[in-house]
Amino acid sequence: MSLASAYSSPVEDSKASTPAPLVRTRRLRKEFAAGAVGLLKRTRLTVKAVEDVDLDIYPGETLGLVGESGSGKSTLGRLILGLIRPSAGEVFFDGQELGQLSRRRMRHLRRQMQLVFQDPYSSLNPRMRVHSIVGEGIEIHKLKRGAEKRARIVELLQMVGLDAQALGRYPHEFSGGQRQRIGIARALAVEPRFIVLDEPVSALDVSIQAQIINLLQDLQLRLNLTYLFIAHDLRVVEHVSRRVAIMYVGKIVEIADRDEIYRNPRHPYTRALLSAVPTIKADERSERIRLPGEVPSPLNPPPGCRFHPRCPYAIDICKTVEPPLETGGAGHAVACHVFPAP
Ligand code: SF4
Repeated sequence: MSLASAYSSPVEDSKASTPAPLVRTRRLRKEFAAGAVGLLKRTRLTVKAVEDVDLDIYPGETLGLVGESGSGKSTLGRLILGLIRPSAGEVFFDGQELGQLSRRRMRHLRRQMQLVFQDPYSSLNPRMRVHSIVGEGIEIHKLKRGAEKRARIVELLQMVGLDAQALGRYPHEFSGGQRQRIGIARALAVEPRFIVLDEPVSALDVSIQAQIINLLQDLQLRLNLTYLFIAHDLRVVEHVSRRVAIMYVGKIVEIADRDEIYRNPRHPYTRALLSAVPTIKADERSERIRLPGEVPSPLNPPPGCRFHPRCPYAIDICKTVEPPLETGGAGHAVACHVFPAP
């Protein structure tokens, strides 16, 4: 069974009816200190994990965020959730800038923003039973107590396709897919509005991936959730996202509606990623674009366009001038000197 054929129809939502973004980032930047080199160690090294990212995520939509390992997408997800502090720039949730909030207000807001991890094996405490794992957030935020709390945990387990028998069991007693369901129930326990799904199916078999994706889509419709879906796999993102953003070495290089980006990719990096997606449809097959070299280190990204050392279309200006992310008529934004937004 191909992954694509196993999916239910994609989530539909309406940006037009909800014009104000639920999540907004402006000039968001994160640098990590990475030690020092040179005489007397006076030259400090800095990893530029995320640089000047502007993103809007609308209520009820899924924004797919795609990039290779080390592109900064997980760091961006954690910045948006307020789990790490930005070096510069702003994150707004429901119009409120996270950096301006008191600790009490931030704690309240955090409840509305949750994270589902990639690895269902390491993200659950092996010494905690399922009722404690799922009930932890309910306890911390004092949402329910006693029998009501237990009933709520059972309800959450049922929402994710598990039953009450799971309550007293430990994570190692479950399969990978079941553990991811427990991780999703844990995130839902505090009644969030927005969830960062950080490669939520990457560690699972293809048939299980489809089940989890379908579950996430059902929950989104049922609970009116907004997702940032982080993945390195364009196959997965195609079937869950309304819009897709492509990230390369800390920068967003292209963003557009899903159909637009799959039919009319502009940035050479997006084209290369798309050419690597297997398809069984003969008319959609294209020759795979093999990029030379490796993804550059965010310690020392190339000048100009960061993609230029690997880009088959690079011209002189690409080596010195960084192309801005510019938006075209249909909301399709591209950062490229040679293939601008349509
Ligand atoms: Fe390639 Fe130049 Fe476009 Fe960068 S700006 S993606 S190097 S053509």
